[in-house]
Amino acid sequence: MPYRAWFQCLHCEDERYPLNQIIYECQKCGGLLEVQHDMEALCRKPAHEWRKLFDQRYMRSDFPYGSSVWGKKEMVCPVVDNENVVSMYEGGSNLFWAERLGKEIGLADLWIKQCGNSHTGSFKDLGMTVLVSMVKQMIADGQDIPAVACASTGDTSAALAAYCAAAGIPAIVFLPKDKVSTSQLIQPIANGALTLTLPTDFDGCMELAIEMSQRENIYLANSRNSLRIEGQKTVAIELVQQDDWAVPDWVLIPGGNLGNVSALGKGFLEMKAMGIIDRLPRLAVAQAANANPLYQCYLKGLAGFEPQKARTTLASAIQIGNPVSWERAIRTLRRFDGVVEQASEDELANASARADRTGLFTCPHTGVALAVLLKLVTRRIIAPDSKVLVISTAHGLKFPDFKTRYHEHQLQEFGVEPQYSNRFIDVEPDYEKVRAVVLKALEARMAGNQAGSPS
Ligand SMILES: *Cc1c(COP(=O)(O)O)cnc(C)c1O
Repeated sequence: MPYRAWFQCLHCEDERYPLNQIIYECQKCGGLLEVQHDMEALCRKPAHEWRKLFDQRYMRSDFPYGSSVWGKKEMVCPVVDNENVVSMYEGGSNLFWAERLGKEIGLADLWIKQCGNSHTGSFKDLGMTVLVSMVKQMIADGQDIPAVACASTGDTSAALAAYCAAAGIPAIVFLPKDKVSTSQLIQPIANGALTLTLPTDFDGCMELAIEMSQRENIYLANSRNSLRIEGQKTVAIELVQQDDWAVPDWVLIPGGNLGNVSALGKGFLEMKAMGIIDRLPRLAVAQAANANPLYQCYLKGLAGFEPQKARTTLASAIQIGNPVSWERAIRTLRRFDGVVEQASEDELANASARADRTGLFTCPHTGVALAVLLKLVTRRIIAPDSKVLVISTAHGLKFPDFKTRYHEHQLQEFGVEPQYSNRFIDVEPDYEKVRAVVLKALEARMAGNQAGSPS
């Protein structure tokens, strides 16, 4: 059974283009394009057979289907030949049962989807495998693509650089100078990408990358390119698959360029159309208060979206004032009875550190989502008996400065007052001195200052 997919304009839905055409917007109206699948063909196979097929492939060795993205290939990108798939075994990230954190905040059924446990340490791998595979297919078919480029707040460039290095395709990354972490900067450097750092913000880098892609034949790898959305949507499929195909009540996700929330929604909607699930969760998008254009729009009833100049936030990967996918995100929120909430720098830093006390190691963006979770639970928008899933977008190890500065009380400029800081203790290598320090610390803990509670 052949499965088909094509680009389709979000506005004038009759405009279609093949997936191997270099095109990012509708030639008729300039609207964003979206990958549309032949849903009739997908719906012909009964839902239980799809579930069985996906389960059979999941994290096994039959290339490329062991990857949780390519294990859903028919729904993701059926037009790439398997020999051109550039895969690093994406997906299959842990669904962490946040038992202690849930108890603390009054939720019995809280789960954290650890998308940062991946090849380059963020969910961006899920989409990049699809985009780079499509490029490899196009090159194999004789198209002239000298390089692939992206603007990035750090994680997209890391993913692009790694996948292009694996495929032997030149990569160019545009990064806002001094606005990505050291770990994020060194990733494309190590992978041999042409790495440009520019004294502007993400939105400024984006404009240049777009212009470059339009004027030189360079392929654009931003989420304006909807192939990435197809890979990222598999997080929705995977997270229900990991719970024997049960749908949670709520999914919370941090939002910057707003591609990921759109992808999440697309995954759920297509599964529902195919009968793989029978209901939709509610969605909540979490934004940093310093970069909150979607939140502002939500306050106005999801009308009159206005881009803004984003202010500096510790959640640097979502420091975006002019998100590419705002229109997709609004459409998604309408379908999912969605909520948008924001978190201050103090709230996101403390939420991140609090979660770490229960065994996680969260990035600041996950901190934004957790701070928003706390607000929605306190306000009873999320009921205590709901099954709640938080998308953790990157690995905390990509943000060592954020963590170190928090625990050393060096985030005053962001207005952060650490409530969960912990410091190492310098002690002489002498048994009695070590013993005195340890006993004193244990006593303090017995006196009610237990791990997990504010220090
Ligand atoms: C890219 C990214 C986001 C935001 O995703 P969008 O699709 O831009 O909304 C959030 N967190 C991390 C760690 C990211 O890398």
